[in-house]
Amino acid sequence: MKKINIIIPIFNEEESIAELVQKIKETSLKIKEDIVITMVDDGSSDKSWEIIQNINDSVLSFRKIKFSRNFGHQPAIFCGLEHFQEDAAIIIDADFQDNPDYIPQLIDKWKEENDIVLAKRISRKESFVRRILINMYFKIQNRFTEVKIPKNVGHFSLLDKKIVDNLIKFPENKKFLLGLRSYVGFNVAYVEVVKDPRKYGDPKMSFAQLIKLSSEGLIGFSNTPLNLIGILGFIVSISSIIFALYTFIQNQFFGNKLLNWDFGLTSIYFLSGIQLLSISVLGQYISKIFDESKNRPFYIIDKSL
Ligand code: UDP
Ligand code: MG
Repeated sequence: MKKINIIIPIFNEEESIAELVQKIKETSLKIKEDIVITMVDDGSSDKSWEIIQNINDSVLSFRKIKFSRNFGHQPAIFCGLEHFQEDAAIIIDADFQDNPDYIPQLIDKWKEENDIVLAKRISRKESFVRRILINMYFKIQNRFTEVKIPKNVGHFSLLDKKIVDNLIKFPENKKFLLGLRSYVGFNVAYVEVVKDPRKYGDPKMSFAQLIKLSSEGLIGFSNTPLNLIGILGFIVSISSIIFALYTFIQNQFFGNKLLNWDFGLTSIYFLSGIQLLSISVLGQYISKIFDESKNRPFYIIDKSL
């Protein structure tokens, strides 16, 4: 019998925890594997930790960890991975968007000698705007970075022990699961899933956090934005030389005055905009260096049961 560790990051999910554990229990009875559930309470302010503490079961075992404050989805997942001791880990959200019914399929694929099994969404019951933004993110991410993150794949996945061992060995402080999971390589298989809407409450990840997460993927795995600044600078310089020559000729030989004050002013604003944008791209990289060089802990544990 294999041991499977199910890792659940939890931030203010009081309505769903008990139900999710019950659902996982029903699933575990079908698959006949040993299941250990790791619940990482990421500094919830509702009753999540009370509920987690009181959960007990004759069939399932638990690892319960409470952070000292809210550190975020990634720290909660990596905390689960760092405490992992089983044969495979399954990462699943607490809000029922990742349906536990797919767990047996993930395990079956793993047993066919696959090291990473990803849940690939064939349909996404989410808002139109969010869907468009997510699509755009994947397009940019995969065009500009060496590490290809498969489209329509989120955190819901199964990782073999050797993958987890590798992931937690990465020396960087701020880890990004979607990127690193692609970076490590190994045999990857897919299980097609339908991503449901969140069952209770509002998304716990704010829009700003999602943007931060995408920048983690882009800036953390690619130098292309830096190269783009160079290319942009080159294009602007060449065009301005050509334009200067053109206006000079028009002026000298044909007496046409092309440039007026409005044009001068708009070009200054335009170029200042480009410069500010470029500086902010540079700033993104510097802030990553700044964060990493401080080497502060990714998360802090308050209680562990
Ligand atoms: N979560 C977390 N810390 C946070 C935000 C979210 O542990 O700061 C958990 C949350 O409880 C859920 C999972 O991460 O189990 C995904 O969060 P959410 O559903 O809000 O993200 P979305 O589905 O919108 O990407
Ligand atoms: Mg969700």
